[in-house]
Amino acid sequence: MNKTYWSEQIKAQTPYVAGEQPKSADLVKLNTNENPYPPSPRVLDAIREAVNADLRLYPPVPDSPGIFRGNGSDELLAMAFIAFFNGRKLYAPDVTYSFYPVWARMFGAEYLPIELNRDFTVPVERFCGVDGCVILANPNAPTGVALELRDVERIVASNAGHVVLIDESYIDFADVVSAESLVERYPNLLIVKTLSKSYSLAGLRAAYAKGSEELIAGLRVVRDCFNSYTMDRLALAGAYAALADTEYLAETCGAIIATREQTAATLREMGFDVTQSSANFVFAAHSLVPAERLYRELRDRGVLVRWWNLPRIENYLRITIGTDESMRRLIAALEEILR
Ligand SMILES: *Cc1c(COP(=O)(O)O)cnc(C)c1O
Repeated sequence: MNKTYWSEQIKAQTPYVAGEQPKSADLVKLNTNENPYPPSPRVLDAIREAVNADLRLYPPVPDSPGIFRGNGSDELLAMAFIAFFNGRKLYAPDVTYSFYPVWARMFGAEYLPIELNRDFTVPVERFCGVDGCVILANPNAPTGVALELRDVERIVASNAGHVVLIDESYIDFADVVSAESLVERYPNLLIVKTLSKSYSLAGLRAAYAKGSEELIAGLRVVRDCFNSYTMDRLALAGAYAALADTEYLAETCGAIIATREQTAATLREMGFDVTQSSANFVFAAHSLVPAERLYRELRDRGVLVRWWNLPRIENYLRITIGTDESMRRLIAALEEILR
């Protein structure tokens, strides 16, 4: 394609590639970590109620102290890169959310991967007292491996001169606790949390960040230099209702965790090495059959999972936890392929 109209900056980018969203409804879709259960009925009611003449008005910009709301966490993360990482060094695990290096390139951060241990745990010591900012997904993606709160605290406390961003997209599926409680004591800590996964609202686009007054103010500057109204009235109504329904969250996350443990055990019996996942997916490598082949043959059988041709993880599949019925179809397809 001709790119004569493109800026040099855009010509130099390699965008993140999200998992596909196929048209056919017949596929078992285990490739983008969506929640298999519907959002809370209260969310749907709140959104329906918000469909009214007030839509002629700009949405409120709910700026409460210590919290910043946005149109999905990808947006909040991008804003954090501009606000805090531009022109700085940024340390991240070598295996993590592959959007991070994309934003680093786009927004001028020097991205410095630190090798995870062989079992994909974080070498905590190596992230302590570094000469730059740090970004960690906890639990990590695509490995599912989680860090204990005390280890997060060690990293945050030892890097007082730099922002440490913890992306807690999957924390509700974990038995480690959120680092939200540390925000009051550490002005360099920013927590980002999405409603896409545990609240089953990937289609709504809602997320929030928690941090010190300074960090939240920095994010507001970026937002107000770009688009003051990143959350529309329907998204705000739905997001508040979702956050209020803690019972529904606990129930659906509990179901997903139970299915995850069952799936991991079955995969291990079938000869897979499965990481200790604290997320709504498992990360698994078969001892004999290459992941690329499994990925393609699963697709031929109508089961979509995620596979990356990247160093260290090219033999792993990331499999989103769906309903028990979806997981039965996955296992049946794998049994057929491995037979
Ligand atoms: C899914 C995911 C996101 C993006 O979430 P959205 O709120 O849907 O943009 C961010 N970080 C990680 C690690 C994720 O897995």
